[in-house]
Amino acid sequence: MTELEVELMVLGAGSGGVRAARLAAQRGARVAVAESGPTGGTCVNVGCIPKKLYSYAAHFADSFHEAPGFGWPATRPMLDWSVLKARRAAEIHRLNGIYDGVLSGAGAQLLQGRARLTGPNSVEVVAKDGSSGWRVTARHILVATGGHATRPDFPGADLAVLSDDMFDLPVFPRRLVVIGGGYIASEMASIFHGLGAVVHQVVRHTALLRGFDTDTAAFLAQEMQKKGVQLKFGRQPLAIARDGEDLKVQLDDGTLLLADTVLLATGRGPNTRGLGLTEAGVALSPTGAVQVDGAGQSSLASVHAVGDVTDGPQLTPVALAQAGVVVDRLFGQGERRFDASLIPTAVFTHPNVGTVGLAEAAARAHGRPLRIFRSDFRPLKHTLSGSSERCMVKLVVDAATDRVLGLHMVGADAGEIVQGFAVAMGMGATKAQFDATLGIHPTMAEELVTMRMPVSEG
Ligand code: FAD
Ligand code: NDP
Repeated sequence: MTELEVELMVLGAGSGGVRAARLAAQRGARVAVAESGPTGGTCVNVGCIPKKLYSYAAHFADSFHEAPGFGWPATRPMLDWSVLKARRAAEIHRLNGIYDGVLSGAGAQLLQGRARLTGPNSVEVVAKDGSSGWRVTARHILVATGGHATRPDFPGADLAVLSDDMFDLPVFPRRLVVIGGGYIASEMASIFHGLGAVVHQVVRHTALLRGFDTDTAAFLAQEMQKKGVQLKFGRQPLAIARDGEDLKVQLDDGTLLLADTVLLATGRGPNTRGLGLTEAGVALSPTGAVQVDGAGQSSLASVHAVGDVTDGPQLTPVALAQAGVVVDRLFGQGERRFDASLIPTAVFTHPNVGTVGLAEAAARAHGRPLRIFRSDFRPLKHTLSGSSERCMVKLVVDAATDRVLGLHMVGADAGEIVQGFAVAMGMGATKAQFDATLGIHPTMAEELVTMRMPVSEG
């Protein structure tokens, strides 16, 4: 084994790991990063990026459908799944090269292999190519090994695929059953419906996106159903069985759904198994995640963790921000902590959801009187497109301080729109300041600064 001595040893070259390695190396630290798969992690390889590319692909179906309303002759093109997969794979390969370049450009050494702790300051990396591997002594160890999709235990669950598999399915599923009501299930249901599949989404709760604003989730469900996604609320799968070409999904209300592919999108768990963490003295939470404080410090002074391997929100910008906090603490003057109070997020369903700040129910739980502003309307585009899609915007305002506590939107490009409003919210914007802002006309976003009458007060 090759012996190495570094100041920072990073486990995992995903969103958090690459950011931390680059920042630390740029500050002059000697850094090595172990990665057992392709660089870029979940987001680049089987998450945000391929998902968004497929969402773009799916949106073309709407455009083809709506074009005649604008004078373009009707066309009914068919998706070539193999072309989409090949083009996605080529782009991801290009991004892998960019991530490799980010690490080498900053002077961080990439060790291609599976890593595990052998002590508070030592890591062993088994090389991917069968060569001798590395034994690393490190002043600091950063665990950024991300997470994996979990598979609930019921008969036939192993016949279903997980989200990682969806991007490269050998044959496009004409009939898709999606189990789950969270981010991944709702996005995949929308995307594959847009690409041409008949989609049933089975949700055990009575609404999509638990934890989101309930109006927002209900509006999304209504819009997805209008487009043709068949939502089954309050239902659980009991069993999956193969019958020739068909997968039969038995639900707890007696319904039998036939599918080519069943996707289980029922949550993700942290990648801590076999890492040697507990043996080294690192405390894990009941979910198996690395327990850290707001600055990414674990129970062991030399070990730190960021991203999906911790119990925080599983979002790329969160992993990136946490990596910045850890590097500031270890190699800068900073004593920053990660601020989880205002995390903007988008769900790339069709239509998109964008949200920042508190859901109405969460704001009410604080016991403060609220003013709620809400509007839903037909976007200008759909006056000619023939689509019945509507847009919803909602503001949750603290009646005492006038501060906007929550901003929610369901509509095209909601993520793009909410990103800008997140800056204002972070600065503590009040409803009066929203009112004083001129709209940009004609846009959907102007509705967020032109709502004058609350739909409820108190
Ligand atoms: P990861 O990016 O998962 O990186 C961890 C890395 O560690 C991996 O490359 C893994 O191979 C490596 N590794 C694990 N164990 C070892 C080991 N023992 N040795 C060496 N290497 C190891 N977030 C968003 O913000 N927006 C989105 O639109 C979005 N879409 C998503 C869509 C899907 C389908 C999924 C699954 C996730 C999505 N996410 C999205 C979440 C986002 O991908 C994650 O929050 C983010 O990637 C977490 O980054 P990370 O650095 O913690 O872990
Ligand atoms: P989520 O936690 O968002 O959703 C999991 C869903 O599965 C919930 O509806 C949950 O129901 C349901 N569920 C859990 N266990 C079972 C079970 N045994 N049987 C039936 N249903 C079950 O996880 P995802 O897997 O969708 O995504 C993981 C994370 O990845 C997200 O939380 C998000 O942080 C990140 N992500 C972000 C994206 C983005 O930013 N656009 C896109 C995709 C992923 P219940 O609510 O009742 O618990």
